[in-house]
Amino acid sequence: DALANKIAAGEVVERPASIVKELVENSLDAGSTHILIEIEEGGLSSLRVVDNGEGIPEADVETAFLRHATSKIKTDRDLFQIKSLGFRGEALPSIASVSHLTLQTSTGEGAGVELRLEGGVIKHKKAAPARKGTDITVTNLFYNTPARLKYVKTVHTEAGNISDIVNRLALAHPDVAFECYHNQKEMLKTAGNGDLKQVVAAIYGRNVARSMRPFSGESLDYTIEGYAGLPELTRASRQYMSIFVNGRFIRNYALARAIQDGYHTLLPIGRYPIAVVAISMDPQLIDVNVHPAKLEVRLSKEEELGELLTKTIRAIWQKEQL
Ligand code: ADP
Ligand code: MG
Repeated sequence: DALANKIAAGEVVERPASIVKELVENSLDAGSTHILIEIEEGGLSSLRVVDNGEGIPEADVETAFLRHATSKIKTDRDLFQIKSLGFRGEALPSIASVSHLTLQTSTGEGAGVELRLEGGVIKHKKAAPARKGTDITVTNLFYNTPARLKYVKTVHTEAGNISDIVNRLALAHPDVAFECYHNQKEMLKTAGNGDLKQVVAAIYGRNVARSMRPFSGESLDYTIEGYAGLPELTRASRQYMSIFVNGRFIRNYALARAIQDGYHTLLPIGRYPIAVVAISMDPQLIDVNVHPAKLEVRLSKEEELGELLTKTIRAIWQKEQL
């Protein structure tokens, strides 16, 4: 199974940023309200995620590193109504198989436990402080997969990728306090008070935040909520349009297009808006089980959603008579 884990690792943990994503998603699934991320040298030297979530019971700690050991789905039916960010039970075993990993975790009751793995092999298990939550440190990343290591880019690029991912996770969860440091330098700090506009300010700056207009709307199957930046504050890249479905960041060309259409003729050619859209829908209408990284999702009735987005954003500019 060590080999299977290494193969799965190729898909789930392409690069340091994908590891940060998986670890933080686990923290979110565990109901954390505060998540600290500490990165050294783009994650190549070390990468640490500390949360104050529910922790892992001592009896389940080793199981969490077995492939397909997820505590999040129990039946086939659950697979069609996924509410948690994780569900494959692949992340921890995959990450552990290509690194040195130390985990400290506690449910807050009784002593905590520390587990140390190297290349997926358990090196020790011992008692740890009973601080509620989970603390995972990953070092020597890809030390046993030289091809993967080669594929990883410079510290600068990897740090940028991590920053993008953490920004999105923070935008998707304004009710969670995020703190992220790279080589001890603060990359992001959010209050976790539920105010999306404050998260936007922390990431894009106060000017952008000030230009963001709130919107909300609903159709039969969808509820949307978010902020759209004024048409004069555009960017040369699509990636400033952040789309979340039930708290999960997704990439979706048709929906990005629908947001742009909401600006009608107000956008200069080749320019894209800054926007954050949170979509809520019945989990049964989404298929997230398309790709291990879960970035692409299939949505039923995508057209209905696109029309809702375009219409809602267009109404803002009509009201402001732009
Ligand atoms: P998945 O998230 O798909 O269930 P993972 O491999 O990411 O699989 O995690 C395996 C299991 O370990 C999870 O189902 C969960 O029970 C536990 N776990 C992982 N990280 C945390 C965390 N930060 N807090 C609490 N439990 C966690
Ligand atoms: Mg997970």
